[in-house]
Amino acid sequence: MTKHIFVTGGVASSLGKGISASSLGRLLKSRGLRVTIQKLDPYLNVDPGTMNPFEHGEVYVTDDGGETDLDLGHYERFIDENLSRDSNATTGSIYSAVIAAERRGDYLGRTVQVIPHITDEIKRRISQLATDDVDVVITEIGGTVGDIEILPFLEAIRQFRLDIGRDNVCYVHVTLVPFIGPSGEQKTKPTQHSVTELRSRGIQPDVIICRSEQPISPELKRKISNLCDVPVDAVVNAADARNLYEIPLVLHEEGLDEVVCQHLRFDCPELDLSRWEILIDRIETATTPVRVGIIGKYVSLPDAYLSVVEAAKHGGFHHGAKVEIEWIQAEEAEGLLAEGRLADLDGIVIPGGFGERGVEGKIAAAAYAREHEVPCLGLCLGMQVMVIDVARNVVGLTGAHSGEFDPQSPHRVIDLMEAQRDVTDYGGTMRLGAYYAELKEGSQVAAIYGREVVSERHRHRYEFNPRYRSRLEAAGLVCSGTSPDGRLVEFVELADHPFWIGTQAHPEFKSRPDRPAPLFREFVGAAMARAEGRNPHLLYLDPEPSSRR
Ligand code: GLN
Repeated sequence: MTKHIFVTGGVASSLGKGISASSLGRLLKSRGLRVTIQKLDPYLNVDPGTMNPFEHGEVYVTDDGGETDLDLGHYERFIDENLSRDSNATTGSIYSAVIAAERRGDYLGRTVQVIPHITDEIKRRISQLATDDVDVVITEIGGTVGDIEILPFLEAIRQFRLDIGRDNVCYVHVTLVPFIGPSGEQKTKPTQHSVTELRSRGIQPDVIICRSEQPISPELKRKISNLCDVPVDAVVNAADARNLYEIPLVLHEEGLDEVVCQHLRFDCPELDLSRWEILIDRIETATTPVRVGIIGKYVSLPDAYLSVVEAAKHGGFHHGAKVEIEWIQAEEAEGLLAEGRLADLDGIVIPGGFGERGVEGKIAAAAYAREHEVPCLGLCLGMQVMVIDVARNVVGLTGAHSGEFDPQSPHRVIDLMEAQRDVTDYGGTMRLGAYYAELKEGSQVAAIYGREVVSERHRHRYEFNPRYRSRLEAAGLVCSGTSPDGRLVEFVELADHPFWIGTQAHPEFKSRPDRPAPLFREFVGAAMARAEGRNPHLLYLDPEPSSRR
């Protein structure tokens, strides 16, 4: 029977609950268990697709086209399992399902209420992941205990234990143990209050993960154990680590997987973390700094580009390079370039985005990278601005633009496909999720992937306009990957540039710390060559990291 772990958070948001849940998933998977993981979010948006990245960070896209919370990115990177749209449910989606059922007459004659109808729907979302191929489902509850909107979720997970039995459910509560400067002490009171709040909802935690800046002492653990009624070995400390990917090792040292396995009566083999340890060693011994500029619209909230940053770091892990991100506000890019203030960048990433603000800066950055042989990777909107740059500045199509930003442009080299023209409804109108592309033989992209057919995730409305394809190709733009029917351009590159590659997809979503997305791997390789003063023309096409060091 599938068992369930529920991860709640207390005291403060942004404690790294998602990282704790992902790390636990990694540890259980390393013990041979089949793990899946999901996030329940208490907000009312049906999915995060319509939210401003300033507020909520990036929208993570799954293979099946789910627009999900960015924590799913952590889950996939840590656990290395592909998740689906069912791995994220929001209050909005739960209420929509219940209200639709009410309109259909499914509850005829009855009063529809939060308890039991909403809580039953929450339980259904949790149970649907408990398939025959899963030993354990980890469910992270977004928000913090004490929030008004979290109550139906707490009630649902409380009932869940009664439904499936005590030994089949483990409640993990993540809290903060702050250091209070003037008294020079770490404080347990916030943890006590948060556990009291959880208990007032009928949930007694089985494990407490204490986040802290500095390690907490055994006495403090005993105190928390006593006051919160949790065995002392179930009080686990996650002190700040040097890097994110170290957390599974920290939590293992603290005995987290052991306590959870004992609680759930899992009789599982010894843990094998050797691959993860090798990865951490590579991260910590990386020396060569590589400066990657990200030209973005939402740079004041780096979470808006979380997967892009992680994928660039993964590329760095592969090469033994320390990727340093320079955040460049897209509106300022033109000025900075003109003043020569971006000359020391080793590589430029132009990430995805929506809306006109800053787009001229992105086009200028693409042009600069093209002219100065700076490695440049364009992602979705990034590819689109590369195409606009070639159209305007190489082919000479004055006023060339994307129909998204200038519907009156005489040359809409990026535009909506016919079928999309009349759609006015937001949400669900984009090309979303994994699509195959066929790569052009002999192209850089084909060499980088080492394959002819690749699948990457998408999230966009606009496309390379096929009417301009031959003119742009005649000017040197290589369309190095297309949809299998040849209609949609998926990858572009320049034959005589060391690395100037754009893709309509978002390869960052499939990057893993020990298996970087191929385009990011080679982008960082080319940037590193530039940093070291080597010839950055594609030097490395070897997917094995060890031979590079
Ligand atoms: N705004 C562009 C489009 O809709 C690009 C989207 C993106 O970069 N994800 O096509």
